[in-house]
This record gives sequence, C-alpha cells and structure tokens, in this order.
Amino acid sequence: MKDFYRRGLDEGTFDSTFGSLGNGNTVGVIPYCLGGGISIATGLIGFGCDNILSAKVVLPNGQLVFASEEEWPDLFWALKGAGQHFGLVLEITLRTYPLSIYGTPEGRHWVGNFMYPLERAEAVCKEMETLMADTKNLTAGHLMVMAPPPSFQPIIAVSPHYFGDPKNAPAAFGALDKLGPIAFNATTPLVPNLSDHLDFACQKGDYKRFSLAGLQEFKTDRFLQVINLFKELFETCPDAGASGYFVEWHSRANEIPKPESESAFSHHDVYMWVNCLSWCKSKGSCEKVFELEKKVIDVMRSGQDPSEYIDYQNCNREDPVERRFRGKERLAKLRRIKQQVDPQGVFTKEFL
Ligand SMILES: Cc1cc2nc3c(=O)[nH]c(=O)nc-3n(C[C@H](O)[C@H](O)[C@H](O)COP(=O)(O)OP(=O)(O)OC[C@H]3O[C@@H](n4cnc5c(N)ncnc54)[C@H](O)[C@@H]3O)c2cc1C
Repeated sequence: MKDFYRRGLDEGTFDSTFGSLGNGNTVGVIPYCLGGGISIATGLIGFGCDNILSAKVVLPNGQLVFASEEEWPDLFWALKGAGQHFGLVLEITLRTYPLSIYGTPEGRHWVGNFMYPLERAEAVCKEMETLMADTKNLTAGHLMVMAPPPSFQPIIAVSPHYFGDPKNAPAAFGALDKLGPIAFNATTPLVPNLSDHLDFACQKGDYKRFSLAGLQEFKTDRFLQVINLFKELFETCPDAGASGYFVEWHSRANEIPKPESESAFSHHDVYMWVNCLSWCKSKGSCEKVFELEKKVIDVMRSGQDPSEYIDYQNCNREDPVERRFRGKERLAKLRRIKQQVDPQGVFTKEFL
C-alpha cells in the first residue's frame, strides 16, 4: 500500500489527490478495499470499499468481466465489502480526493504519540472517553496497551490524528499533554508515511492474528480490564510480548461519509473498533493468546446486546457470518449471488 502511494507521488499522480488507504503499509490495496477498508481517514472519505468505482474480475468459470453500477451490478454490490469471495480482482478504479482535506495543501496533518506508564491508565482512559466522544474536533487515532522496544515493558500509548490546520492540534490534545507523558513526539507526515509508526505490526513471521470488533462506546473500566488481560498475556506467554490491544476511534465531528450506493459492507455506523494484534513466537502459545484475544473483545463489548455484536470481515473469517455481514436481506443477497457466480466455492466456501 505504501509503495503504491510512494510511486503515485513520485510519478505525480498524487500531486493533489489521494485514494483510500489503510493503516498497514504492507497490506495490498485491492484486498484492503474489497474487504471493507478502515483507515485513519475513514471519517474524511468513508470506507475503502465505498470508493471502488469499478472492478475488472476473473470469475470462477474463467470469464473476464467488468463490474460497475451499470455492468454486473449485483457482482459489483458484492465486491464492495465481500470481494474476496467472488473472483480474482485484477484491477479496481478508485475515487480520489484532494489532499488538502487532511489539513494542508500537500496533505499533511498532525499525528502525535503520547506514552504513559500503566499506573496512569485510569487517568488516560478518562481523558480518552472525552476525546473519543468529542464532536468539535475532527480526530481519529489509537489508544493502545503494548510493550514496545527498547524496554519491552507494558505501557499505554495514544496516537491521535488531527485533521485540519496542524497549528490547532496541540490545543485539541492539551489534556493528554497535561497528564505528563513519559515520552511524546509529533509529526506532520505526507500521505505515504501516515502509517509508518505502525510498521512494527507489519513484520513477517511468527504466529499472528488480527481481530477487530465494532464498539458503540468507550468505557474506562472496560479498558482497565483489557490492561489486566494484557498483563496476564505478558506473564503467561513471554513470547507474546509483541501483541497489543488497541481501540481505534473516528470522532463524530464528521458523520462518516455515506456511500452513493448500497453494498455488501454493513458497518457504516461504526466509529470505534477494538483491535487485537495477537502475536507469539511459539505455536504452543497460540491457544492461550487467542483465548485472551477473545476475552478482550468480550470485555470491550460487554453491556452490548449480543444480537448487536459487530465483527470486521477483513481480518479473520471465523467470527459468525451474521456479525460480519449484518442484516438478513444482505446475507440472503450475498448467498444468492454466490450461487450464481461461484456455486463450487472456488473463491472460498463463504455464503454457500
Ligand atoms: C499489518 C496489517 C495491518 C492491517 N491494517 C488494516 C487497516 O488499517 N484497515 C483494514 O481495513 N484492514 C487492515 N488489515 C486487514 C487487511 O486489510 C486484510 O487482511 C487484507 O485482506 C490483507 O491483504 P494482504 O494484501 O495483506 O493479504 P493477502 O493474503 O494477499 O489477501 C488476503 C485475502 O484476500 C484475497 N485476495 C487478495 N488479492 C485478491 C484479489 N486481487 N482478488 C480477490 N481476492 C484477493 C486472498 O485470497 C486472501 O483471501 C491489516 C492487516 C495486516 C496484516
């Protein structure tokens, strides 16, 4: 993904515009968009799949087709959010946006990194409750419990993004500063470098899993329980120290832009996600690590009615399909299209 944007800037394609991109530099643009596509810019431009204008697809029977609103409209509908289950997508055309919507004409915006010891967790979470519920400033970002190098000790980190004039960002995040972080830095990166601070999560090797679940709200007491689960992980599986539990938020200063047309994607109402990066070096630790990941998600959505649980479809494919593609009609339509396009399940057995 990063290479794509870097090349675009070098060649002049992205002098003044950019398209949808995610938070992982090594993630492929096409699979990211086909499966939904959440990025730090979701509050500005919507989800990745909403920005697909057309796709060139090889169907399971070998036929090459162009899918858009006009041609193969049902397939096009399914590709936007469930695209990995219907064919091999060779090309997508994406809507682009002016870089200036980030804050400066060249597309820079303010990104901070605040780090705190775990003892400050409650105070940090209380501030985050306010910040995540803010309807004035257009912000997004991650609250994380993790154990980064060089000390590999558990800490709380907040990585907020401010969209608009970068000069106004320090005031918007003044409360985080007042909490006295043990380390702080701020940058105004260009679009290709937006996710560089998350590069650690893109390293290859070991046993890894990402799981994302949608949240309706952020509560301090729940994240404090998550911190305890992280401590348990750290103590019981020392080889899983590279794991991290995050909450990603998109402020409600903007409504997430609505797509022009319907699609298989069903999570347009989600402004907050709990994100578990489970990562261990030995296979023997996987069971415990994945058990704790499940507990983290359960804790973060406690208080929610199970019928309203939301799972992101572009991470693991083990969560109940009804939570990944919400709504009976949507699921029925996906099953109908799958029967028409891929009845043998060449591109996964999902929806069969
Ligand atoms: C480090 C990391 C960070 C991430 N960050 C984000 C994020 O910020 N936002 C977000 O929304 N998601 C994020 N994800 C999830 C990611 O978008 C999905 O896992 C995506 O499918 C991964 O694509 P890939 O290129 O890495 O993997 P691949 O393994 O190449 O592809 C994943 C799946 O898509 C299918 N696929 C790949 N290419 C095509 C194609 N051309 N046509 C049809 N099917 C295809 C593959 O068969 C496979 O099933 C992240 C994942 C990782 C590992």
